[in-house]
Amino acid sequence: TDSDAVDGAEPGGLRTPIVAVLGHVDHGKTTLLDTIRGSAVSEGEAGAITQHIGATAVPLDTVSEMAGDLVDPTDFDLPGLLFIDTPGHHSFTTLRSRGGALADIAVVVVDVNDGFQPQTIEALEILQRTGTPFVVAANKIDTTPGWNPNDGLPIQTTYEKQSDSATSRLDENLYEIIGDLSDEGFSADLYWRVQNFTKNVGVVPLSAITSEGIPDLLAVLMGLSQRYMKEQMAVDVTGPGAGTVLEVKDERGFGATVDVVLYDGSIRADDEIVVGGLDGPIITEVRALLQPRPNAEIRVEKRFDKVDEVRAAAGIKVAAPELDDAMAGAPIRVVRDQNREAVIDEVEAELAEIQVSTEEE
Ligand code: GDP
Repeated sequence: TDSDAVDGAEPGGLRTPIVAVLGHVDHGKTTLLDTIRGSAVSEGEAGAITQHIGATAVPLDTVSEMAGDLVDPTDFDLPGLLFIDTPGHHSFTTLRSRGGALADIAVVVVDVNDGFQPQTIEALEILQRTGTPFVVAANKIDTTPGWNPNDGLPIQTTYEKQSDSATSRLDENLYEIIGDLSDEGFSADLYWRVQNFTKNVGVVPLSAITSEGIPDLLAVLMGLSQRYMKEQMAVDVTGPGAGTVLEVKDERGFGATVDVVLYDGSIRADDEIVVGGLDGPIITEVRALLQPRPNAEIRVEKRFDKVDEVRAAAGIKVAAPELDDAMAGAPIRVVRDQNREAVIDEVEAELAEIQVSTEEE
């Protein structure tokens, strides 16, 4: 039934853009995601966020409350943002150019003091190869010597409250990051100076600990998606689903399951599916679609709720027979009205591309 559907969008509406958070280890990806989730929850509204398998959905109203004056919800018709929860996931190294990438947009987190590191460069190379638009979060600004934290304020407001010595130290670090981006072939600037985000990369100074600059990050992500991705988001969220496998996991009572980010169409509890596997496409039937139980119910023995249908964009655990050899980073497709052979061919073609790009590395 419709009331049981986990929705990324209404039929005929625009789907939620999928946001990936990438960057070098310890630069603050997990903290940034936790802060966005935490402040969404503390906005206090029931259903402010929806926890998915492998992802967190933040609806537009909540984005707008977190971003304060920087986001006017009436300027947007996208439903919000879906953040992928597993930062720096190995599936990103198998991101494909065909059939839609895992993420529509990315945040590359860089520690302002530590600057560019090997995994920063690796992330940029993946984003360049897949043509994924991104912003750079210059994180940990609160560690600038002499910094006077102003929790949750937009960057320019907190910047004005700092001493000259603090701002000049921060500026030095920020210009180093802008210079490193330029060395990697990206023309970049502080985000408020960027006119055209298709040509220039915006740098957002922020702190995942004090939340300074988080309003700016949300505003930039929302603005970028709305301006450049609206057409891409106009998908039929009730059509046969397409997604990417994030992880393959054994779950008690279900056997091998796949955690999936669905970026197109829908998946239903009785659908036939084709999943990319180590030895080629796996053709099977959904046994159950699983969502995590809300935290309050964590002591209940069952960790998952079964749902009847999920619509893009969403994270979902799919239980089905034969998934032992499914592969992280591989495609998953629903066979519904269309020709099964055509779907298998598509999955095979995508698998071939994954193998090629893995060998290139
Ligand atoms: P990840 O490996 O990229 O996910 O990095 P984590 O989120 O685990 O962060 C690594 C360390 O940096 C942790 O000790 C965090 O508390 C700390 N950290 C992350 N963001 C900030 C920040 O904005 N300011 C400060 N002072 N510390 C931070």
